[in-house]
Amino acid sequence: MSSYGVGVPASSIDCLAPSDAGDAWTARHFPGCSMSRPSTCGDADLIILGGGCAGLSLAANLADARTSLRVIVVEPRTTYHEDRTWCGWRLVPHAFADCVVASWNRWQVATPAGVIERNSAHYPYEMIRADLFYERAFRAIDRHPAMSFLAGRSAEHLTETANHVEVALSDGSTLSAPWIIDTRPPRRPIERPWLWQTFVGFVVEPDMPAGARFGSVPILMDFQPPDQAVAHFMYILPAGDGRFLCEWTRFSTSPDQLEDIEASLRAWLQEHAGAGWTLHRREQGSLPMALFPADAAGRIVAAGTRGGSLRASTGFAFHAIQRWAASCSASLQATRLPLRPPRNRMLDSMDAIFLEVLHEPSNSAMEVFRRLFEECPPDALVRFLAGMPHSSDLWPIIRSLPWGRFLRAAPSAIRSQMHVRTAPGRYRSLSRRWP
Ligand SMILES: Cc1cc2nc3c(=O)[nH]c(=O)nc-3n(C[C@H](O)[C@H](O)[C@H](O)COP(=O)(O)OP(=O)(O)OC[C@H]3O[C@@H](n4cnc5c(N)ncnc54)[C@H](O)[C@@H]3O)c2cc1C
Repeated sequence: MSSYGVGVPASSIDCLAPSDAGDAWTARHFPGCSMSRPSTCGDADLIILGGGCAGLSLAANLADARTSLRVIVVEPRTTYHEDRTWCGWRLVPHAFADCVVASWNRWQVATPAGVIERNSAHYPYEMIRADLFYERAFRAIDRHPAMSFLAGRSAEHLTETANHVEVALSDGSTLSAPWIIDTRPPRRPIERPWLWQTFVGFVVEPDMPAGARFGSVPILMDFQPPDQAVAHFMYILPAGDGRFLCEWTRFSTSPDQLEDIEASLRAWLQEHAGAGWTLHRREQGSLPMALFPADAAGRIVAAGTRGGSLRASTGFAFHAIQRWAASCSASLQATRLPLRPPRNRMLDSMDAIFLEVLHEPSNSAMEVFRRLFEECPPDALVRFLAGMPHSSDLWPIIRSLPWGRFLRAAPSAIRSQMHVRTAPGRYRSLSRRWP
C-alpha cells in the first residue's frame, strides 16, 4: 500500500481535506507536501479545476518540469481508487509510461462473419491502471514545493475579470489566478449526442482455462447480435495474471440501461468463461458520442472531456489528453500561457458524418467498423482513431466506408455541426443532460 492510500477504497488521500481541527486550510499533508494557506488575491499562477485524468496529467507534467508556477488543483474527491483502466494507442511517448500494465501490437475485431486480426509494429495498444496513474501524479505533485492539492472541495462559481479569474469554492472560500484550467465534467445540455456509449466492465479471472475469447490478443469489438437498432459488443483485454477486462458496450440513444448491460455481461461470461470466474473489479461509464462546441477565448481553458478531448466517434480520450498536457505544460513553461486542446475540423466533420451513420436504424456500427478494420492499413486506421491522421490516411479510410450511407448522412451532420460551432450556450438537449 502506498502512503497515498490509492487503491485502497476505505482509505483516502485526504491529506489536503478540511482538517478535523476545523481550520479549512490547515490540511493534513502528504508526507513532505507544502500546503500553505492561500492568500485571498493571486493565490496561484494557475488553478486546475478537477483532479481527474486531464487535471492530474497537466499537474504531473508541470511538476516533472519543475515549473516555477504556483499551481493549485481543486478536487471534490477525498478518496481515489482503481476506478478504471485507460486503454488506447500510444502514438507518441507520454508521462505515464510507468503505469502501463500491458501493451499489445496485435488486436482483433470479431463479427458473425469471422475474426479480423490486425497488427502495428509502431503503435502499441496499451493499458494504464488508474490507481498507478493517480499514485504517480500525486507523487509528482507532492515533490513540488509550489503545488497544492485541495481535496474535498468543489469549484462552484467562476468570475472572470480582465486579469484574473475568481473561483468560489464549496466551503465558502475563494481562490484567484490569472488562468484556470477547467476539467470539471461538462454539465451544459449537449445538442444531438448522436449516441451514448454505455458500458459495464468486470475484471475477471476464469477458474479454468477458458474458451476462445480468452486468448493473449485483445478483442476490441466482438459484435453481438443487435436488437432494435442498437449495437452491442464485448471488449476483452488480457490484463495479465490470468485476468481479463471484459466489458459489454452498447451504442444507443439513451445513457441508461446499466442494469440490462450488466445482465448481458453476466450472461456472456456464463456462456464463454467456462466453469466459473472470480470477479476482481467492476467499472462502468456512459460517454456521450457527441461533438462539444469549441471553447470560447478567455482566461478559463476547458480541457479533458470538457475541452473536447473525448473523441466523439470512439470514446478514446486518454492519449489525446496526454498530448495536450505535455504541450500545455511546455507552453506554460515557455510563456506562462496555457494551451487549449487542439480541435481538428476535418476530424470533427468526419465524426459528425460517422455518428449520423451509426444513428441509422440498422446494424450500421458493426458494418462500418468491420470494413474499417478489414480494409484500412492498420497504421493509417490507428492514427485516424487516435486523432492524429496523416493527410494520406484519409483516402483509405474514406474508401473503406459505405459511401451511399455517408453521402446520405452528410447534410444533416453538417447542419448539426454548424449549430455546434455557431451557437454555444444555446443547446437543447436531445435526450437529457449529461449526468
Ligand atoms: C469507466 C471508464 C473507463 C474509461 N476507459 C477509457 C479508456 O480505456 N480509454 C480512453 O481513452 N478513455 C476512457 N474513458 C474516457 C475518458 O478517458 C475518461 O473519462 C477520462 O477520465 C476523462 O478525463 P477528464 O479529466 O476529462 O475527466 P475526469 O477524469 O472524470 O476528471 C474530472 C474531475 O473533475 C472533478 N470534479 C467534478 N466536479 C468538480 C467541481 N465542481 N470542482 C472541481 N472538480 C470537480 C471530478 O471529481 C474528477 O476528478 C473511460 C471513462 C470511464 C468512465
